[in-house]
Amino acid sequence: MIDGGPTVTDETTEEPREAAQVRAEVRGWLTEAWDPDLTVRAWWRVLGESGWGFPTWPRDWHGRGLAPEVAGVVRDELRRAGALGPPAGLGQGLAAPTLIAHATEEQKRWWLPPLATGTEAWCQLFSEPGSGSDLASLQTRAVRDGDEWIVNGQKVWTSGARQAVRGMLLARTDVDAPKHRGITYFIIDVDQPGVEIRPLKQMNGAASFNEVFFTDARVPHANMVGEASNGWAVALTTLAYERAGIGGGMMGAATPGEKAGFLDRRAGEVAAGVGGEAEMGSMMAAFTGGSRLLRSAAEAMGATADPVVRQGIARIHALNEATRLTGDRAVAAIRSGGRPGPEGSTGKLAAAVNLHATRDVGMSILGAHGMLVGDDAPLGGEVQNVALSAHAISIAGGTNEVQRNIIGERVLGLPKEPQVDREVPFRELRVGTQRRDG
Ligand SMILES: Cc1cc2nc3c(=O)[nH]c(=O)nc-3n(C[C@H](O)[C@H](O)[C@H](O)COP(=O)(O)OP(=O)(O)OC[C@H]3O[C@@H](n4cnc5c(N)ncnc54)[C@H](O)[C@@H]3O)c2cc1C
Repeated sequence: MIDGGPTVTDETTEEPREAAQVRAEVRGWLTEAWDPDLTVRAWWRVLGESGWGFPTWPRDWHGRGLAPEVAGVVRDELRRAGALGPPAGLGQGLAAPTLIAHATEEQKRWWLPPLATGTEAWCQLFSEPGSGSDLASLQTRAVRDGDEWIVNGQKVWTSGARQAVRGMLLARTDVDAPKHRGITYFIIDVDQPGVEIRPLKQMNGAASFNEVFFTDARVPHANMVGEASNGWAVALTTLAYERAGIGGGMMGAATPGEKAGFLDRRAGEVAAGVGGEAEMGSMMAAFTGGSRLLRSAAEAMGATADPVVRQGIARIHALNEATRLTGDRAVAAIRSGGRPGPEGSTGKLAAAVNLHATRDVGMSILGAHGMLVGDDAPLGGEVQNVALSAHAISIAGGTNEVQRNIIGERVLGLPKEPQVDREVPFRELRVGTQRRDG
């Protein structure tokens, strides 16, 4: 327990009593409910409707209203039972908590059920060719047209856009206001004629990202989350969950939605590990279990007795453990503060630094074999895949440098970076491809 006051523990397990009770309840429920022969669609429906899929969500919205550190036991029990975890996507991890915090009751009724039961995948339409770290400089425009808004512009690095049916869209709706004050947050249907999605091929061979072009795309006014031109406040919630999620290993079970191809497969087969992390490759596995991967690499290379290799693996293990514990502290902070704070930046930065270190130790264990890929490579090329994918985490969800800025300002109390453009009307700025004359 983090709130202060004595921790009441269960005598048999020495676990806080609330967690022990939840563990017993979910374990009993899983004995009845988990059936590996169900389709993923049917299982996610059962799981979503039970509230155990997203136990931190409110009871009224497919959750159980549990504190995050208590909810952790639900994941443990799902793993213990060999059951498939809840749908894991940006809609579930980022959009849903944002909607819970900012959407109207009617919007929650439209959007939370398909996210909870995994029938929909969503994407995050924030970054643009000229706007990543300086996200508030985004140029995609939305102009009101009766009950709709018309959207024109371009997004980039949109993960999972081809699997998604909807996206969290940030668009500029007031060019006369300073850059942070003229942005609106919408939920847009991406399956429409005005939206073109083009995949981007990565150096690890996957194509997880896309460019998304809007040409007179339409979004109903009713799909606006929060107030017009006040979307920055809503976006900050999404970004905070993104940082905390990446630092805490957000990726989990299979990708939701009709297009990802998991819904009609046997839940038991998907739970056994096939395809759950297909898009992100083995990077996420290394991210949470880097020292295990390195140990396998050392065994494959007959290097387990090498003192330098042993030292490298022990170092990664220690770093990952420290990061995990820091993540627990961030979770505790979410509990006392309600929403993730700058602690997420520490965890995210540490996860990125650790993954780069894992890459370096892994490649040094492989030596010349590190130049091989696929079946010719030790462990089927898993270490090489990590090496080629590791850059993603130090950029996604805010670069390492940006996390350091956040930690400097909000954790260490250092002065803010000078921002000369904060009060200047957006149309007068030179950002992205915009010229000063608009
Ligand atoms: C794996 C992955 C998944 C992603 N998925 C999505 C997604 O689904 N949706 C989405 O909208 N975006 C997504 N992104 C985009 C991501 O959010 C941006 O790439 C990121 O915010 C950085 O922006 P940028 O690429 O424009 O780099 P820039 O902002 O142009 O940065 C370039 C360099 O300048 C440094 N820099 C910039 N500003 C500062 C500063 N103030 N102080 C110090 N250094 C600075 C940066 O650290 C970096 O090294 C994804 C990116 C990756 C890698």
